[in-house]
Amino acid sequence: MFQKDVASFDDMSNLPASLRTDLDRQYTLGRLRQIKRLVSNEGETEKYLFGLSDGNTVESVLMRHDYGSSACVSTQVGCRMGCVFCASSLGGWVRNLTPGEIYDQVLAIRRSTGADVQRVVIMGTGEPLDNLDHTLVFIRNITADYGLGISTRRITLSTCGLVPEIGRLANSGLGVTLAVSLHAPNDDLRNRIVPVNRRYPLAQLIRACGEYTLRTGRRVTFEYALIQGLNDAPGQANALTELLRGLNCHVNLIPVNYVPERGSTPPDPVTVRRFQEVLELKGIPVTVRREMGADINAACGQLRTVASSQRAASSRHRHHRHSRGSEWYR
Ligand code: SF4
Repeated sequence: MFQKDVASFDDMSNLPASLRTDLDRQYTLGRLRQIKRLVSNEGETEKYLFGLSDGNTVESVLMRHDYGSSACVSTQVGCRMGCVFCASSLGGWVRNLTPGEIYDQVLAIRRSTGADVQRVVIMGTGEPLDNLDHTLVFIRNITADYGLGISTRRITLSTCGLVPEIGRLANSGLGVTLAVSLHAPNDDLRNRIVPVNRRYPLAQLIRACGEYTLRTGRRVTFEYALIQGLNDAPGQANALTELLRGLNCHVNLIPVNYVPERGSTPPDPVTVRRFQEVLELKGIPVTVRREMGADINAACGQLRTVASSQRAASSRHRHHRHSRGSEWYR
């Protein structure tokens, strides 16, 4: 199941026939159904729409790098976190994925492309820490000898900042790379961009990240989506350096991807560079993320369920005209 990707118990020819019949009677061996595959212009990113057994759909992405292939997997159908720049929560939360459904996204991508997936980023639709139990089982299976044997160091889990669950993840002993979607240097602004900040404000979040680095020895990555006119000013870069002072971390600046109904616009390259320099001057390791797959809406914050795509399409006209202004403040 986990390595050979068999489609049915019947294919397990190393098992006695009677056992296969018993297994078939008592268990289901589900597989995702590939509905759509989009390949980006440059051919290095592929986005998949997979059908689940109950008729829901999820998206996953394959990214080919010089150093190997990464699969970006979803953990929920929809999302209830409501981050304002993100397409994934437009249709709301529908349900959690099972550990098998998360795992099968990796297998289905391998099946479709033959790619040898060496890294996994848990950054697709959904908040993985809002489905932590299933996500932990998935990580244990995919890193196990009986699984694909992917090192936990090559697994990155991205969260919008559920503080108690960051503690549970630290205690799990898995030591995966933690990536936190920060996007703002103060509570006022973050409350508006990442609503979960109202429950777990920055002071608590940063403390939890510090504890994560202490317990796991891993450096935390902070994702900061730069949005024109909202969080891209030099003063905000300064405030960010204050917030992260003394923390073993790395900042990933992501000029935001365009999501029409969210009204997000990326800053110009000079503004991005200026922001980066402020962080560099204070000695904070920082990179600007290279954009992959934006032409097929496979980039960060652009994944969505079919239901949300349809809903978004119907509201697009309404929002599109105002896409630069008040949109962010709803
Ligand atoms: S950024 Fe992540 S947590 Fe926030 S709404 Fe999108 S999928 Fe959910």
